Order: sequence, then structure tokens, then C-alpha cells
Amino acid sequence: HVEVRGVHKAFGPLKVLRGVDLEVRPGEVTVILGPSGSGKSTLLRAINHLEKVDRGLVSLDGELIGYRRTARGTLQELKEREVLRQRSHIGFVFQSFNLFPHLTALENVVEAPVSAQGRPRAEVEAEARALLERVGLADKADVHPRRLSGGQQQRVAIARALALRPKVVLFDEPTSALDPELVGEVLDVIKDLASSGTTLVVVTHEIGFAREVATTVVFMDEGLIVEQGTPAEVLEHPRHERTRAFLDKVL
Ligand code: ATP
Ligand code: MG
Repeated sequence: HVEVRGVHKAFGPLKVLRGVDLEVRPGEVTVILGPSGSGKSTLLRAINHLEKVDRGLVSLDGELIGYRRTARGTLQELKEREVLRQRSHIGFVFQSFNLFPHLTALENVVEAPVSAQGRPRAEVEAEARALLERVGLADKADVHPRRLSGGQQQRVAIARALALRPKVVLFDEPTSALDPELVGEVLDVIKDLASSGTTLVVVTHEIGFAREVATTVVFMDEGLIVEQGTPAEVLEHPRHERTRAFLDKVL
């Protein structure tokens, strides 16, 4: 259960998030749409504390991310080690797959659960093989990223995110670096996660995906959530002119 409350973030004079509230319940799929520069990536990065917010709070299953509340009710920043522990419950899949080039597909998936969560390698490896199979790459376990297509690399990146048994997986434009013919195979994997009840937050320009998979569609502009609702509400009957103008451009 992800809760974002009143989040503000500026870079110097540039106010990138200007009071964002967002709630993602377990098993829900939230799709975030919005023009370039509207703050979508910053919001995702704020959720897992890669970006420290200026004001507001983020919590995951009731636990504040990046802070703890003292007995006096003030907030105290968590130590880096604690933040890393929290972050290991939040999967993150980037536009540029960011696999370790010197590791095989399997080793990429095994790395974090062993090093960050201290789980036994043999157990993790068995789970990693099952995850590679789930994303359709059982036969690529021993292959290095450079010998995989973009779509395959992204599917390894998804398996790697899942290996941490995350409570939520954040996707930042997971298909926008891919050749068009490879987009479908990655979206199919994300759809499979959605239908199996994994909690997802997906920034994407794939409106068809949003229509089909989203529980909630969020439209962001200039650091604010302008509109949110079901796909039917936001995509078919947008209430705000800015949402309409954006959809006219991307549809
Ligand atoms: P896109 O669709 O292009 O990915 P976005 O909605 O993800 O856009 P953000 O990446 O969140 O937008 O960026 C919002 C604004 O904040 C942009 O103007 C960007 O240049 C600026 N910005 C983001 N990160 C930083 C940073 N570390 N330092 C300074 N400015 C930043
Ligand atoms: Mg972005």
C-alpha cells in the first residue's frame, strides 16, 4: 500500500512536484500519464527515496520511507543502510534497462537478493530461474546482456526487480527505448504481473496498455495531479482541458 501525501520537490527555482497526493492499494495498477517535464520520473524517484522530497511524506504499508517518527513526533532521517532495506521492497524498472553488462541474465537476477537481502544463493538461483521462465527467457539464463535484444534485456530487468519480492514495482517508461516490434513482449510481461495481483505504478505513453490494464489512470501536468480516475473516466471522458489536449496529442 503506497501513500504519497503532499509531496513537494524543487530543483533550485524549478518546482517539479507541487503537492502530489497518490494512493496505490495492494493489487492495483496505477498508470501515470503526462507531458515531458511534468514530474513523472521525479515522483517515482521520490517514492523510493532516490529523490529526497522538500515537503510531504511517502509511506509503504504504513512505514515512512526515508524517515522515522521520534517519540516527540518529529521526523528523523534514516541511515543509508535502512533506506536501502526499504528500497529493496520497491522494484524499479527504468527506460534504459541498466543491467550489469559483465553478468549473465541469471546472475543479474540473483545479484540483489543475495547482496542486499542476504538470502542464500542456491535458493535465490532457483527462484531466479523460475522468474526468467516467467518472463519467457528460460533459455537465456547464461547469456550476457549484449547478446540479448532490447525487449529481452528489459524482461531480464523485470525479473531482476521481482527477485527482491517487492511490495510494489515502479516502471518508468519501460518500453520507450524499445524498437516498436519489441514493445508488445514487454507490455505482455507487465500485463501478466498485473493480472497476478502485483502492485504496479507505471509511467508510460502506451494509452492502449493504460486502457486495458490500469485500475487508476493519473494525469500529471506541471508537478500536479490534474486528474485521476478509472481508464474510462480519464481516457474517454477527461474533465480537464489539459488532459484532453494531452490525449489528443498522444492518441
Ligand atoms: P519525461 O516525460 O520527459 O520523462 P518527466 O515527467 O519524467 O518527463 P521529470 O524527469 O520528473 O519529468 O522532470 C521534471 C523537471 O525536473 C524537468 O524540467 C527536469 O529537467 C527537472 N529535473 C529532473 N531532475 C532534475 C535534477 N536532478 N536536477 C535539476 N532538474 C531536474
Ligand atoms: Mg521521465
